Formats: sequence, structure tokens, C-alpha cells
Amino acid sequence: MISQRMQEAINEQINKEFYSSYLYLSMAAYFEDKSLPGFAHWLRLQADEEREHAMKFYNHLVDRGGRVRLKAIDAPPVDWPSNLAVFEEVQQHEAKVTASIYALYELALQEKDYPAQTLLHWFIDEQVEEEKNAAEIVQQLRLIEEHSASVLMLDHRLAKRESEE
Ligand code: MG
Repeated sequence: MISQRMQEAINEQINKEFYSSYLYLSMAAYFEDKSLPGFAHWLRLQADEEREHAMKFYNHLVDRGGRVRLKAIDAPPVDWPSNLAVFEEVQQHEAKVTASIYALYELALQEKDYPAQTLLHWFIDEQVEEEKNAAEIVQQLRLIEEHSASVLMLDHRLAKRESEE
């Protein structure tokens, strides 16, 4: 049987995973609206994955005779100032999720909850992957921005060419 403290903490985490799913779906909707279906596709799959994360915790509680208690999911933002801002938020959000997974793991250690520790090992690895993916996209979007800046600079230089007599 799983401890009351651990049950409450896992129920909190279920809510956080559903919020992640909701956040990424809202980001997908933002890109659908901008006619960028590739970005929207990536975020839709990300939203699906977050729901699966919630269900892993849900199943863990059910399997151990715990009680799943679903809470209200906060409304995610609807708009962002730029494509880069969206993925910077993904990156920051994943860092927060990692911190909450670590806190949950700390609690599992204190409670000597070995099954929860095993489950959380999977999540710890998963967060390494999630943070890597988000960082890669942010980096690439930043490169694109830098490149457009250099193109503008080159354009500025080319504009200054004088005609030869
Ligand atoms: Mg997750």
C-alpha cells in the first residue's frame, strides 16, 4: 500500500502532467493559427506524450491501491510574442517539470517507497530527453534569427555598391 503523502504528491504530479499536455496543445493551436502545421504537429505529439505521462502515474496509483484524485487544470496561455518565445517557454516548463520529478524522487527516498523510485527512474531519464529536445529547437530558432540578421547586414552592404563607369 502506498503512503498518503506519496499518493498526494503523485496526484499533484498527475495534475502537472495534464497541465503540460494542455499547455502544448495550446501552443499547437497557436501554430495552426499561424499556418505552421509542422510546429503544430510536433506540439500535438508532445501534448499526447504528456497525457501518457499523467496516465503512467495514474496507473501506478491504481496498481498500488491508491486513490486517483483529479484536480482542476489551469488554463494555459493562448498567445506568444514569437515562435522562439513558444519554445523558450517549453524549455523553461520542462526545467520546472524536472525539478518536480526530482522533488517526488526525494520524497520516495524519504518514504522508502521502492516501487515509486523505480517508476521515477523512467521519468528522470525522460526529462533528460525532454530538456535536450527543447534546447535543440530553441538553439535552432536562435540560429535562424541570427542568420536573418546577417542576411540583412549583407543586403545593407550590397545596397551600397556603386556602379562602375
Ligand atoms: Mg511530462
